[in-house]
Amino acid sequence: MEKTMDATKHIALIAHDQMKASLVEWCRKNYEALSHHFLCGTGTTAKLISEQSGLPVKAYLSGPLGGDQQIGAKVAEGQIDMIIFLSDPLTAQPHDPDVKALLRIAQVYNIPIANNLATADFLISSPMFSGSYTYHRPDYERGKS
Ligand code: PGA
Repeated sequence: MEKTMDATKHIALIAHDQMKASLVEWCRKNYEALSHHFLCGTGTTAKLISEQSGLPVKAYLSGPLGGDQQIGAKVAEGQIDMIIFLSDPLTAQPHDPDVKALLRIAQVYNIPIANNLATADFLISSPMFSGSYTYHRPDYERGKS
């Protein structure tokens, strides 16, 4: 089925510990563009971004305590339009299955997801970031994809 994201999007922000400073810095740099959207994130990431950039970020649970799964559930419900997820490619994570599950569900529902800052820069520079965007969303419930 077709789904349209509004110009004002719901964006999830997640960063593993070694990547948090980079994501906070990216949010500060892109304050103006991000301030037009609804932001949420895993617990520690959301708290740090709120405190250090001034952007309001709704906090879910911390990633290792289920925050990635909460965000994945919101993706499945169609309530998150985009994810910036700076996962750490060099450190083993205790919640690796949850990380993989989030990547998978974002792929299933065809939403944009950035796993590094270069991709995040491309996303935020796109005209679709500040405009509406119609895309294909699978509808397995009705037996169609
Ligand atoms: P955190 O979780 O923002 O609570 O640190 C991120 C993660 O590890 O997925």
